[in-house]
Amino acid sequence: MGTIGVIGAGLMGSGIAQVSAQVGYHVLLSDIDLARAQAGKDGIAKILGKQVEKGKMTQADLDALLARIEPVADYAPMSAAEIIIEAATEREEIKAKIFEAVGKVLAPDAILASNTSSISITRLASYAADPARFIGIHFFSPVPLMALVELINGLATAPATTERAKAYGEKVGKQVVVAADSPGFVVNRILLPLINEACFAAGERLASIPDIDAACKLGLGHPMGPLTLADMVGLDVCLNVLHVYLKDFGDPKYRPAPVLTKLVEAGWLGRKTGKGFYDYSGPEPVPSF
Ligand code: NAD
Repeated sequence: MGTIGVIGAGLMGSGIAQVSAQVGYHVLLSDIDLARAQAGKDGIAKILGKQVEKGKMTQADLDALLARIEPVADYAPMSAAEIIIEAATEREEIKAKIFEAVGKVLAPDAILASNTSSISITRLASYAADPARFIGIHFFSPVPLMALVELINGLATAPATTERAKAYGEKVGKQVVVAADSPGFVVNRILLPLINEACFAAGERLASIPDIDAACKLGLGHPMGPLTLADMVGLDVCLNVLHVYLKDFGDPKYRPAPVLTKLVEAGWLGRKTGKGFYDYSGPEPVPSF
């Protein structure tokens, strides 16, 4: 197996490193400094250590996997990588600097990818030395458990780049879908209007909050209701994304439900603040209104 470079050792980057190492890739893992890259690796060791305790993985397999993840302090060793995947903080100026720097070491036949959720792949490609070898590889959280990867072709992405990214996605055990470069790609483009419609329904008292969730869960076969999911994602995040779609597509169908704006104004952002559509202060979540 070859070598993969991963830039950003946070939630997503360490997940990408883990699934890559799990199938035998040698992974070069970097972050803003070596200590953070090492912390990313330590996080993987901790999660998989629990699998060993439960008897789901052997200590020898864990040791072998961890030996394949190498924290690095700079990008120079990534000249050996066939794919470099950036999973750093979602800020365009940070990603631009990374692509400019890593472009200097990217092997002539290697490809460069971003795990961005919201930034245009075509625009990110403009910071790369060779936009034909640039693509979006969008994993879902938690990476080891979620079976999907979206590939996003920028305007200049070459078909050979898509093919290589697809082969990588399949090697790490994911179902790969190919999307055009458009806000939200496929999953979030469809999810956010669903969540927004559930917010409209809650705001107009079409049904109670738990009943809207139960209806979607049991009537649509979703693993959780859209209002529960919105609370998990963060209501501020949902609202921001809808504003981006409204602006980028110029289509009023993306206008945020008034109740969503109200909850965010109140500081009720969902699970992370203890209250959103549900109040999480007791033993069981209860509807907030
Ligand atoms: P995170 O905050 O957990 O991790 C980001 C990491 O990037 C941090 O460890 C940070 O130190 C590092 N970083 C910051 N600047 C850097 C730099 N200049 N060089 C190298 N590393 C740097 O964030 P995350 O949730 O892992 O998100 C990472 C990317 O994945 C974002 O683009 C995000 O949009 C995307 N994404 C996130 C999710 C999700 O559910 N969290 C899902 C899909 C895609």
